[in-house]
Formats: sequence, structure tokens, C-alpha cells
Amino acid sequence: VSPVVIVGAGHAGVQAAASLREEGYDGEIVLLSDERELPYQRPPLSKAFLKREMDLHGLPLRAEAFYPAQRIDLRLGARAVRIDRAARTVALADGTSLPYGHLILATGARQRRLEVPGVDLPGVYALRTIADAAALRERIVPGLRVVVIGAGFIGLEVAATAAKLGAETAVVEIARPMGRAVSPALSDFYAEAHRSFGARLFLGVGVREISGTDKAEAVVLSDGEVLPADLVLVGVGVTAEDALARAAGLDCGNGVLVDERLVTSDPAISAIGDCAAFPNATLGFVTRLESIQNAVDQGKLVAARLAGKPKAYDALAWFWSDQGDLKLLIVGLSHDVDQWVVRGDPATRAFSTYGFRKGRLAVVESVNRAGDHAAAKRILASGKTLTPEQAADPDFDIRALAK
Ligand code: FAD
Repeated sequence: VSPVVIVGAGHAGVQAAASLREEGYDGEIVLLSDERELPYQRPPLSKAFLKREMDLHGLPLRAEAFYPAQRIDLRLGARAVRIDRAARTVALADGTSLPYGHLILATGARQRRLEVPGVDLPGVYALRTIADAAALRERIVPGLRVVVIGAGFIGLEVAATAAKLGAETAVVEIARPMGRAVSPALSDFYAEAHRSFGARLFLGVGVREISGTDKAEAVVLSDGEVLPADLVLVGVGVTAEDALARAAGLDCGNGVLVDERLVTSDPAISAIGDCAAFPNATLGFVTRLESIQNAVDQGKLVAARLAGKPKAYDALAWFWSDQGDLKLLIVGLSHDVDQWVVRGDPATRAFSTYGFRKGRLAVVESVNRAGDHAAAKRILASGKTLTPEQAADPDFDIRALAK
């Protein structure tokens, strides 16, 4: 039997390999990574690792011995460059080629490029890999002028850390902080919070260019304001790494299109994690999610199918972000939410927002209130009903409802 070949050894690919063994799959597993490091966790790169609270030893997803012990043929520095669907082979950059019985694309996402002059100057950074994080960690020192372009989760996590480390930090955002993913109330709260951490925020304004002769010296905003910079971090989102799939003629949209069992338009190929666009059972339309939960749960689901236990993907979406002293936990998705209810007082830096889609609870965002998050997870998973009126009533016991 030809092996299961997994392209990409991030959270999704490693989980798929591990779960194949847990599910009792006994055949060959080849796990390809175009990176050189032992497969590692990305979330700490903008959190504990950047803050110097974790070193390189804390990053690997699994110990080195895990792979041979589980008979997972992990190949580092092995980039897949072409899929031959008729022959069922994957060609690698080193000129060799591998046969597959089933192919799993777990290629993740790549940085969206900011299309402005100066973006390629030295001193302009992105944050996706260990190398990116190590470079930032080495450079951020007290007094350094750091300009973060893009107030998404990663940009804001870096901004909070830079401010904490004593850097003079500015954040530029064309819309609102985390605007695509969170409620307006939460977005406004985080804008204020980052000011309290010591950052200057420039919201509703774009970037005209990054100026400098042989390195980045300033970020010029669309309104003409000039922000002097020693270091620029660009965090304007990611796009699916779906080049292999596209070149192989697989159906793609905003990522590699899969059905509810995560199978692509070729039944011998699946796609999981950041690169996969799947029919979202809760929302009723195709989405692509960028989260550990999604990568891990999709890795498990595809492994179960290959071990003979097919299921449709309907996992509850959840996410976290640590910014300064604020621990944000989100469960559910905020798409199409038409009503928000805030519980607790944002001024205390501990509160939750409850988002409703046509009267049904869709998402709960909790700041420094892990108990609310746990209760919300149970409610959303069980299908129990929480009404907007109940959420708005401070005397209504949501945690009791969740039990
Ligand atoms: P990835 O982890 O991106 O792995 C894909 C791998 O495939 C990469 O190693 C890539 O190099 C490799 N690859 C691509 N193409 C090829 C090829 N042709 N051949 C071989 N290998 C290939 N999510 C959260 O839920 N919570 C967080 O707090 C959080 N924080 C984050 C902080 C940072 C700094 C970053 C960058 C991301 C964060 N995320 C967080 C998002 C989360 O890390 C991603 O959703 C997750 O890594 C997706 O896993 P994946 O396996 O799909 O992709």
C-alpha cells in the first residue's frame, strides 16, 4: 500500500500524523516540512517566546523521539513542489518523488504582502516562523522605535510585548483593532488598553510608504504623518498557501476547497488547517479559519476518516490571544452577528461580550474571565439556549445554565 503523505508539519499536519496512529492506522506515514526545525508551536512566537519567558526548547510540538517511535517518517527541509494526480506522486524540491495512497495538504498560510514602497527594506519584519520570531526577539530593546502595521491579533500581541520591553511602540491600522474578528465593544476596549500599555495608535489610516535609504527609517501614513521607526513589523493577515493545489488543478477559492469531510475535488487528496476552505456547518457557508483549534480538530478528523471512521466536520471554533495583562478567549464565530450584549464592566478589565445571530447565541468573547469562556463552550456545544435578555441580566446565572 502506498503511504499517506502529509505536506506541511505545522499544527494540522503533525496532528494528522499522530492521530492516524492513535486511530490504529498501521501503514506508512510520510510527513514533509519545508522548514528546518523540529515541528513547532506558532502561538508562543508572538507571546511567551517573544517576551523571553520561553526559549527554543519550549517550542517543539512533539519531542524528536516521538516521530520514529510512532513510525512517522518526518522529513525536514523537504519542500513539495508538484503533485502528479494521475500518477499519485508528489515531487520534492530535491528532485525525488514520492508515491501516495492518500495525500493530505496541510500547507498553512503565508503572510499577505503589504503593497507599499519600501516594504522590502531591511528592518521590515513579518512574524510567522521561528526565524522571524528570533530576529524580533533579538532586536526589540528599550527605547527602540517600533511601528506595527496592522492591528490584528499578531500585530497587537507584538505591540503589547514591545511596549512591555520598553520600546517606543506605535500601531497603524486602516480600520479597527481586530476589526474582522471581534465585536466593536471589544475592539474599542483593546484600543484603549494598548494606549494604557504605552503604545500610540493610529486608527482609520493607511500606510503610504516605508521610507529609508538602505534600511527602514520611517513609516509614512496616508495622511502624510511620518512615524520614525527603527523596526517595522507588518502584520496585515495571511492568505492560504494553496499554490501546490492550484497548480495541480484542484478546486480552490479562498484556500483549497474541501467538502464537509475535508476531501478536495480529488478524492485521493484532503486539505486541513489554515490552507483549507470548508463548508462551515454553523454558518452555512464556506470559511477558512486560522486557529490552532481548527488545525488540530481537522487533523484529527481526516485521520479518523483514513482509519475508516468518516465524519463531517462540525467542531466548535475557539481561539485565544494574550495581549499585555489581558487574556482573551473567544468561542464561536462573529460572522453575521446582529446583537451584542456586554456582561461585566470593561473598566475592571474583566468582562465578556455575547454575540447573537438572529437571536441565537453565536459567539462569546471573554477578557480575563476564563470561567465565562468555559461556560459558553458548554452552552454552544450542548445546543442549550441563552437568550439576549438572559445575557443582559446581571442576576441571571449563566454558569448554572451551562452545567
Ligand atoms: P502552519 O502551522 O502554517 O504549518 C504549515 C507548514 O507547512 C509550515 O511549516 C510550512 O512551511 C509548511 N509548508 C507549506 N508549503 C509546503 C510545501 N510545499 N512543502 C513542505 N512544507 C510546506 N492560533 C490560535 O488559535 N491561537 C493563537 O494564539 C495563535 N497565535 C499565533 C501567533 C503567531 C505568531 C502565528 C504566526 C499564528 C498564530 N495562530 C494562533 C495561528 C495558528 O498558528 C495557525 O492557525 C496554525 O499554525 C495553522 O496550522 P497549519 O498546520 O494549518 O499551518
